[in-house]
Amino acid sequence: MADGLATSVTLSLPEWLIAEISALPDALATPEEQMALVHRLADRNWREGGGGPFAAIVVDSATGALVSVGVNVVLDTGISAGHAEVMALALAQRRLGTWDLGDGRDLTLVVNWRPCVQCYGATLWSGVRRLVVAGEGPELEELTRFDEGPVVDDWAAQFEARGIAVTSDVLRDEALAVYRAYGDSTSTVYNARGTGPVESRP
Ligand SMILES: [Zn+2]
Repeated sequence: MADGLATSVTLSLPEWLIAEISALPDALATPEEQMALVHRLADRNWREGGGGPFAAIVVDSATGALVSVGVNVVLDTGISAGHAEVMALALAQRRLGTWDLGDGRDLTLVVNWRPCVQCYGATLWSGVRRLVVAGEGPELEELTRFDEGPVVDDWAAQFEARGIAVTSDVLRDEALAVYRAYGDSTSTVYNARGTGPVESRP
């Protein structure tokens, strides 16, 4: 009976992003430059159909050197954990050969909203020293209908207490524009398919 059990799992970036890797800048000096890339990747990601409108990057906190990029790959892979933050953190860990991104390094995770309940934990355990988000608050769920889960109200303070500095509201309006475009499009798509509202981040 157990012969059918899976024994490994692969989470790969989508082909369109892999094709773009060599054209990405080596470094993005400011949080605004970093977030602009995140927004661009997030917007393209949902339009390509592989996952939701979410992207994340890991950069060196001092130089802005790009360490990894991630987008939501849930639809592409059929793996519910394939959120942008998980991808960016795991690919940074793979590149650097360590599960602890804080081991002798000061790295920053840049993402286009406050992490969901899953990615909140993934970020806590990753070893990043800084988190930069475009925003927080109910707008993401209102515009996209994704459920972010029971993230604690003092989520930023909890990060800070564990040595992870949080910066919010970097290109916030631009984040909302991506979510608004996605929400408008899926309203049509999902109603047309009769599948009802999304219940967790695809
Ligand atoms: Zn997440």
